[in-house]
Amino acid sequence: MNKDEIIYWLKQNDETELEKLWQQADEIRKINRGDEVFLRGLIEISNYCARRCGYCGINVENKTVTRYRMTRDEIIDCARQAKEFDYGTVVMQAGEDFGLTTDFIADLITTIKSQFKLNVTLSLGERRQDELVRWKQAGADRYLLRFETSNPELFARIHPPLTDKPVDRIALLRQMREIGYEIGSGVLIGIPGQSYSDLADDILLFGTLDLDMIGVGPFIPHPATDLGTNQQKLLLDAGNQVPNTELSCYKVIALSRIICPQSNIPSTTALATLNKADGREKGLCRGANVLMPNMTPVQYRRFYEIYPAKACIDETARQCRFCMEGRIHSIGREISKR
Ligand code: SAH
Repeated sequence: MNKDEIIYWLKQNDETELEKLWQQADEIRKINRGDEVFLRGLIEISNYCARRCGYCGINVENKTVTRYRMTRDEIIDCARQAKEFDYGTVVMQAGEDFGLTTDFIADLITTIKSQFKLNVTLSLGERRQDELVRWKQAGADRYLLRFETSNPELFARIHPPLTDKPVDRIALLRQMREIGYEIGSGVLIGIPGQSYSDLADDILLFGTLDLDMIGVGPFIPHPATDLGTNQQKLLLDAGNQVPNTELSCYKVIALSRIICPQSNIPSTTALATLNKADGREKGLCRGANVLMPNMTPVQYRRFYEIYPAKACIDETARQCRFCMEGRIHSIGREISKR
């Protein structure tokens, strides 16, 4: 599929026509990834963050958020539960928190790998090369780092660098691959100022980077952020601006599946936040093959408020487990044990 075709689909709003896109994506998913849905337990281990991202509610400027960092024992307990629930993987995610030291993370990886034989995915933001190498040696399997948008000016605007050096997440992803990680990335959909052409480039880049995992979700404005407050001013004209809707999200999931038939593609929590009733199921029927049940202890969950009104905010890990199972079975799919 070329860029013009991708833009055609991104701009398409006719339901009968879109039905063809959903069907094509679902078929490609079935042929390449089968009917199994992979469950990845998400542990949001810290909401401290050094960054000033214009989209994210836990950015350092937000003084109203209560900060937490889980202890080693709390994280290990979550991993134990992931094992009990038959999740094949735990994902440790956090703000860019340098209080999560190299040693602390390395020890967690070694312990989780040796005690529970789980796959370990890290999503800790932009970390130093030596740390990435050390964590890989400790046994980490994958790293998730969304490039958020492939438009460098837009990215610089929404993700100010920490030093005077510009950030290049795409180069960092390539380095991670060199180090030996399976790499996951993705984008925000409907960032104020993001054009259809930008988003089509993003989807093509998923293919060029040959991503193992592609996570995409709608941009959800957070009132304590730059983009949340200035959204209206930054929007492009209606013919160019990508809307941050549920429908846009399904289109990107479907197109990503067509461009990257083998990738693991989650039906994300941000999507479920826009449609709590059946957003996850629809994502799974339009190209996705992964769900990421939240395992963060309930007392911390509401503080990991990257965007408001997040789905599953009051549920325990066990409730999430059974909720996911019901959703998967309701659409005739099975849970993978890997
Ligand atoms: N610090 C890590 C993890 C960030 S949270 C990192 O930067 O990689 C994971 C993802 O949540 C981000 O990559 C971003 O795409 C998404 N996110 C953040 N704020 C959001 C918002 N307001 N709406 C929707 N998704 C958001």
